[in-house]
Amino acid sequence: MTPAASNAARGVLRPLTALGARITVEGGRLHIRGATVPPHLLDTLRAHRGAVLEYLAAPPTYGCGRCGRYAFAEAGVTCYWCRPARPSTACHHDHER
Ligand SMILES: [Zn+2]
Repeated sequence: MTPAASNAARGVLRPLTALGARITVEGGRLHIRGATVPPHLLDTLRAHRGAVLEYLAAPPTYGCGRCGRYAFAEAGVTCYWCRPARPSTACHHDHER
């Protein structure tokens, strides 16, 4: 699935899981348990049903944008080791030597 589709699916699921709901796929249908979901969120879920089903069936992972060694749920994330060192981190490393 495309990063845009997985981002859309995550955006739909986030408020549901924040309510304590668990969304599962059973027999190609979405099941919601654990919380009462407001109608407007159900409408959003239905509107993105295809992307959500695909996302839940196989949550995609994306490699670090620079080294590709570490996987993230979102595309375009740079891992900790590839991020530019913050001044405090650089200072810490200097003192370790
Ligand atoms: Zn990296």
